[in-house]
Amino acid sequence: MTTADGTPNVAEKFREFSLPSTPPPTDYYLVDELLKPQEREVRDKVRSWVDREVIPIAGKYWDRAEFPFEIIPKLRELNLTGGPIRGYGSPGLSLVGAGLVAQELARGDASITTFYGVHSGLAMGAIAILGSKEQRERWLPSMARLEKIGAFALTEPTHGSDSIGLETTARRDGTSWVLRGAKKWIGNASFADLIVVWARDESGEVGGFVVEKGTPGYSAVVIEGKIAKRAVWQAEVTLDDVRIPLENRLEKARVFRDTAKVLTATRYAVAWEAIGHATAAYEYALAYTKERKQFGKPLVSFQLVQDKLVRMLGEIVNMQLLCLRLSQLMDERKATQGMASLAKMINCQKARDVVGNARDLLGGNGILLEYHVARHFADMEVVFTYEGTDHMQMLVVGKEICGVSAFK
Ligand SMILES: Cc1cc2nc3c(=O)[nH]c(=O)nc-3n(C[C@H](O)[C@H](O)[C@H](O)COP(=O)(O)OP(=O)(O)OC[C@H]3O[C@@H](n4cnc5c(N)ncnc54)[C@H](O)[C@@H]3O)c2cc1C
Repeated sequence: MTTADGTPNVAEKFREFSLPSTPPPTDYYLVDELLKPQEREVRDKVRSWVDREVIPIAGKYWDRAEFPFEIIPKLRELNLTGGPIRGYGSPGLSLVGAGLVAQELARGDASITTFYGVHSGLAMGAIAILGSKEQRERWLPSMARLEKIGAFALTEPTHGSDSIGLETTARRDGTSWVLRGAKKWIGNASFADLIVVWARDESGEVGGFVVEKGTPGYSAVVIEGKIAKRAVWQAEVTLDDVRIPLENRLEKARVFRDTAKVLTATRYAVAWEAIGHATAAYEYALAYTKERKQFGKPLVSFQLVQDKLVRMLGEIVNMQLLCLRLSQLMDERKATQGMASLAKMINCQKARDVVGNARDLLGGNGILLEYHVARHFADMEVVFTYEGTDHMQMLVVGKEICGVSAFK
């Protein structure tokens, strides 16, 4: 590799560089090689589980707007619930590993991803981050076994992006907290066993209050008529003087900034979800355009089609690298709130483009559920909006780089 005087032999180096290789279709930059063996193992386990258990049933449940309860015991077998939580029956994954779980679930189906994300990420995450040791011991193990299902009730009918303005109240009365108010868009809330409700106490500060299934005054009505994530249920929740024991207030949830900690800790997973949707849509589109002929030739032989496919792959590579780096930084506790927001924003923008292009490349079949792309196309709209809209993520990053907040 070096000449007699010790300098690198450029011709030799070039030959080495141009050795032919065949990267896997979607992992174009061999990101796989940057993963730790355990992360790869988790990714492969979820991937084959999704191929077997999720993809064959996803379209049917989406079409009927029915939640696939049959998936809960099968999810239990994966033993991954709680993701990065250490102990209490959860596997203590790295954040890269937990992100890969979100990516692979989303590659299969967005509704199951959201069911799982709300339970394992938001509800269990809130208890793990903000609960006392007793509260974690009381609730997390049965949630990790998926025996008790969680929900996370923050958004209200009149407070979405400005959830900081929430109006639900928690009044102390003897040995109880009494909750009163309304919530909207609450995933799993119509059947959950434990609902983490965010409410304002008498001092005006926001706390997290765990409402257990069957508590009088709690009601949840499933929102109908959705055009995306149809197989997972969100509900409008009414809290009509719901009385819970004092010890059901999450001990470390004292101000809204604590609520935001949970959202920041789970936001990275949404960025990984976006990769899952983009990957699925791209792979379906690539396979379809290789097969489908027009003007006597496969669609992939047309330059305009190649242009789209190459751009889609380029976006996916960018998304993969961004998520990997963000999650590594989070694992090392070096990531800021803005970094998580930027990844959510950028990945959702890119994935929205990719699923849109995939839908186009399938022509009319792009709107049929049996070809899968339509589902990813519609579902990506929710990913773009929930856990903080595109605008709100942008304003979080704006605040960090400009030093001025454009919102309250
Ligand atoms: C399918 C689904 C599942 C969900 N699951 C849950 C759940 O389990 N728990 C939960 O608590 N919530 C949940 N949500 C709620 C979700 O987080 C909110 O929908 C989201 O935060 C946006 O709030 P909003 O819908 O009220 O929209 P709005 O806040 O009304 O926003 C409407 C538009 O105005 C823009 N906007 C708002 N404020 C500003 C501003 N200051 N500057 C610029 N633009 C602005 C937004 O970016 C957006 O484009 C879910 C939502 C959906 C659709």
